Amino acid sequence: MKKTVVISGAAGFIGSHLCDRFLREDCRVIGIDNLITGDLQNIEHLFKLPEFEFYHHDITKYVHIPGSIDYILHFASPASPIDYLKIPIQTLKVGAHGTHNMLGLAKAKNARILVASTSEVYGDPEVHPQTEDYVGHVNPIGPRGVYDEAKRYLEAMTMAYHNFHKLDTRIVRIFNTYGPRMRLNDGRVLPAFIGQALRGEDLTVFGDGMQTRSFCYVDDLVEGIYRLLLSDFYEPVNIGNPSEITILDFAKEIIKLTGTDQKITFEPLPKDDPMQRKPDITRAKSVLNWTPKVDRAEGLKITYDYFKSLPEEELYKKEHNTFEDYIIK
Ligand code: UDP
Repeated sequence: MKKTVVISGAAGFIGSHLCDRFLREDCRVIGIDNLITGDLQNIEHLFKLPEFEFYHHDITKYVHIPGSIDYILHFASPASPIDYLKIPIQTLKVGAHGTHNMLGLAKAKNARILVASTSEVYGDPEVHPQTEDYVGHVNPIGPRGVYDEAKRYLEAMTMAYHNFHKLDTRIVRIFNTYGPRMRLNDGRVLPAFIGQALRGEDLTVFGDGMQTRSFCYVDDLVEGIYRLLLSDFYEPVNIGNPSEITILDFAKEIIKLTGTDQKITFEPLPKDDPMQRKPDITRAKSVLNWTPKVDRAEGLKITYDYFKSLPEEELYKKEHNTFEDYIIK
C-alpha cells in the first residue's frame, strides 16, 4: 500500500520540492495551498501524475480530506521578511489556526505530522551557533514578531498535541535555505541579489553587511526533513548548513558568479534583522545521521542557472501568479 502524504504549502518553494521527493518515494501526495505566496508554476509538472492531488484551500479554515492519511507535512506560511510585513495577519493566522487545523487533521486521521519551524524562533540570537536548547531572543512586537511568534506558537501547540493527545509529531527548525523555485521578487537576499545582477542593477546590501547567514541548498534540507519524518525523534531538530558568511561577502560571491559589473550599494538595516545566524547541527548528525552535502559554490551555480532560464518578464514581475491566472490561461 502506498503511503498517503498531505503537504500544506505545496506550491511554495520548499513545499513543492517536498511533493517531488515524496512522489519519488512512491507515495500518494495531496498538496494544499491557498497560493498567497505559493505559485502553481512550482507544481505544474505534477498535475499529470495520478498519485498527485491538489486542494486550493486556506488551511486557516477547517480542513477536510477524505480517506486515510499516513503523514502530514505542515509547510504553509509566508516565509520572507517582506511577505510577512505585507501580510502580517495571515502570517499569524496560518501559524496559529492553520497549525491547529493541521494538528486536528493529524489527530483525526491518526497520522504522523511534521511541522516546519524556523531559525527565527531564536530571534536575534545571543548564542552562537544556535543549538536547539537555546530558547531565543525574540521581539514580539517588532516587524518580525508576526512570523517568529507564530512559529513559536506552532512549536508550543505541536508539543501540546504530542504531550496531551499523544500525537506522533516532529518539529524541524529550518535555517536559510535556497535553490530553484524561490520567488525572484520575494525579497530574500539570494533572489534579490541574483535578480539585481540579471537586471543590471546594483546589489543592495542592508546595513554594513557584517551580519551573517548560513545558506543550505534545498535538496539537503529535503533529505533532512525526510529523515526526521521517518525517525522517532519528537523534539525540534535544526536543519541547515553551518557554513557561515557575511552578507557583504555573499554579495561579492554573487557578483563573481554572475559576472555582473554592477556595484554594491548600502541601504539601512531593517529593524530586528538578526546579526548572526548559524545552525549547530550536532543533533541532526547524531539523531538522523544527516549532514549537508551540497556546498555553496555548487548550490549557487544550480540556482543561478535556474533563475537565468526563466522568461525575461519574470525578472520584472512585481507579483507572483495567482490561482485566477491559471484558471484564465
Ligand atoms: N539583505 C540584504 N539585501 C537585500 C535583501 C536582504 O542585505 O536585498 C540582508 C538582510 O538584511 C539580512 C540578510 O540579507 O541581513 C538575509 O535576509 P533574508 O531576507 O534573505 O532572510 P532572513 O535571514 O533575514 O530572514
